[in-house]
Amino acid sequence: MTQLSTPSASSSSAADHVEALLASYPDFPQPDILFRDLNPVFADAVAFRAIIDDLADQHRGQFDAVAGIEARGFLLAAAVGYAANAAVLAVRKGGKLPGTVLTEEYDLEYGSARLELEVGQLPAGTRVLILDDVLATGGTIAATSRLIERAGYTLTGVGVVLELTDLHGRERLGTAPVHAIMSI
Ligand code: AMP
Repeated sequence: MTQLSTPSASSSSAADHVEALLASYPDFPQPDILFRDLNPVFADAVAFRAIIDDLADQHRGQFDAVAGIEARGFLLAAAVGYAANAAVLAVRKGGKLPGTVLTEEYDLEYGSARLELEVGQLPAGTRVLILDDVLATGGTIAATSRLIERAGYTLTGVGVVLELTDLHGRERLGTAPVHAIMSI
């Protein structure tokens, strides 16, 4: 049989790990939400290394810093930043950062929220890769993109472990390449 596309070895292996370990919880944290839990992926050393390598490899050479979104994005950003010799930015929930901060309000699949970023941490024009665990409606990553651009940085990519395609979150994002290890 002819193979039409050939994913890279790390990509296919990372996706296999996510598919095998992903846990799903209906009606959590509220009715009608099917919660996708990636903690079993993070808790498996081989799977964790595979997803970190995949996220770093997909955007290699295209970023100087990674921006992790609180809280699960922090796990990814710290590891990818280390693996790629990149700086790490923490995008935090509202009210947790001192000093001068930029703020963005946004809607979630369930509820609304506020994200913040400290200003002046890196030079203007720094190339930033945004990382988070799940791309759902896209509101969280779209808000983070606005923070990155308002801070004077250049958004060069978005990486997530899991994309929930029926929520069309990708359509809310800009032109920077979006890489999802697995889409369902
Ligand atoms: P969104 O802004 O809708 O793309 O939501 C993205 C953020 O909310 C991510 O940080 C996810 O951790 C979380 N999230 C939203 N929907 C889900 C879901 N169905 N399962 C797990 N996490 C979710």
